[in-house]
Amino acid sequence: MPKYIVTIGLEVHAQLNTKSKMFCTCAVGYGGEPNTQTCPVCLGLPGALPVLNLGAIEKTILTGLMLGCRTPEISKWDRKNYFYPDMPKNYQTTQMDLPLCLGGGVPLYDFAYPKDAQKTIANPGKIVNLTRIHLEEDVGKSTHHDKFTTLDFNRAGTPLMEIVSEPELDSAEEVVAYLNSLRQILIYGGVGDADMEKGQMRADVNISVRPEGQKELGTKIELKNINSMSAIRRAVKAETERQIDVLEGRHPTDKVLVQSTRRWDDDLGETTLMRSKEDAHDYRYFPCPDLIPVKTAPIIERMKPLRPELPHEKCARFEKDFGLTAYDANVLASEQALAAYFEQAVSAAPNAPAKKIANWIINELLGRLNEAAQTITDCTLEPASIGELVALVEAGKISNNQGKEVFGELFANGGKPADIVKAKGFEQVSDTGALEAIVDQIIAGAAEKVAEVKGGNEKALNWFTGQAMKLSGGKANPKLVTEIVRKKVLG
Ligand code: ZN
Ligand code: MN
Repeated sequence: MPKYIVTIGLEVHAQLNTKSKMFCTCAVGYGGEPNTQTCPVCLGLPGALPVLNLGAIEKTILTGLMLGCRTPEISKWDRKNYFYPDMPKNYQTTQMDLPLCLGGGVPLYDFAYPKDAQKTIANPGKIVNLTRIHLEEDVGKSTHHDKFTTLDFNRAGTPLMEIVSEPELDSAEEVVAYLNSLRQILIYGGVGDADMEKGQMRADVNISVRPEGQKELGTKIELKNINSMSAIRRAVKAETERQIDVLEGRHPTDKVLVQSTRRWDDDLGETTLMRSKEDAHDYRYFPCPDLIPVKTAPIIERMKPLRPELPHEKCARFEKDFGLTAYDANVLASEQALAAYFEQAVSAAPNAPAKKIANWIINELLGRLNEAAQTITDCTLEPASIGELVALVEAGKISNNQGKEVFGELFANGGKPADIVKAKGFEQVSDTGALEAIVDQIIAGAAEKVAEVKGGNEKALNWFTGQAMKLSGGKANPKLVTEIVRKKVLG
């Protein structure tokens, strides 16, 4: 049986989170009563004149800076003519030959893969090249009812980036990693929330399959209207299998692969034909006479200082400067706010090892937040408090278990770690003289255990620590006790 090569390219539409729309001053927003955020421009009424939203251009250029794109000196707007049921003027204002961004790439982050696929990543560190990113306007939203269709133009005119990748993705897992990584970067740049469930990010997936050894790509089939990450993964898998079945001649109904657009039915778990695609539509693009081209150099210069440190750059710095494992660095960098929280905790506690602070945040804080269905931005526990708490544990002032109790108290009711330690009477006895007296007392009545320690039984040491804890009412510093017993018994 021949092996098959799967080739996937993605066209992602991502809304920008500007205050106003692309060509008018109507508010951009999710929800809202239908057709309340509209005006003659975004309704596409004849004679209405568009005005460019500079903020949308800036955010697109910032996206280009983050993804390593280049920007033509002059960028311009074009009309894409078509019958658009949800766009009364019947053209979309978009960009054809001089888009804001060309080239660049999206790095696929390990953590962006589906959880169950993170241990078997075929191409770690892969970067998917981009063809281009252009800026255009979103269209209205049609809702189909039994006998009629309603139209809501609140969405019409929302600034939309179309991010086009080269056909370089090899699997459904890479598609998910691409979308998650891209989303993370857009959020880092503050250009959009890219929430697929809210339609803020939408992906068209082009899939083709060819037998190994064949040079030219197989028949290109496009999947449209998939609105969740998990559905995209299922859709790509199912469509890939369908295409291989057709090529192998064992598909029950489809005999040949036809260049077409297909719809994913998540309930049926299969793709169905929407329309077969004649060769590229003749959209009769022409430069928009209402909008002047934009000189990009000054905008690029303005946006350069706003380019944030990206997730993979942050990870590398956390590993290098703080000695974190790649795993921990990835968890912390997965969210900008979480990474900032970690850095604030570290700078508040210069004497506590950053690695330990990372552990407390990842193991304790994220666990609690998760239980409480909260995110790091809801967190009322000050980062400096975690730093102080870790410093207390590391200095041996309180034990690890006591630290966890203090943490619980901090998380629930706030306060200062040192105050809680005092209130709970947790301060450990680290006064060597007092501890030595306790140890002497134990040794005097435990000849057998002393012999065991002398005979090299490490576990017997724990027995001494346990006794010291009992005698001190749980306040003895266990590390110190062990040291003292060693010294006294073994010399
Ligand atoms: Zn408007
Ligand atoms: Mn488009």
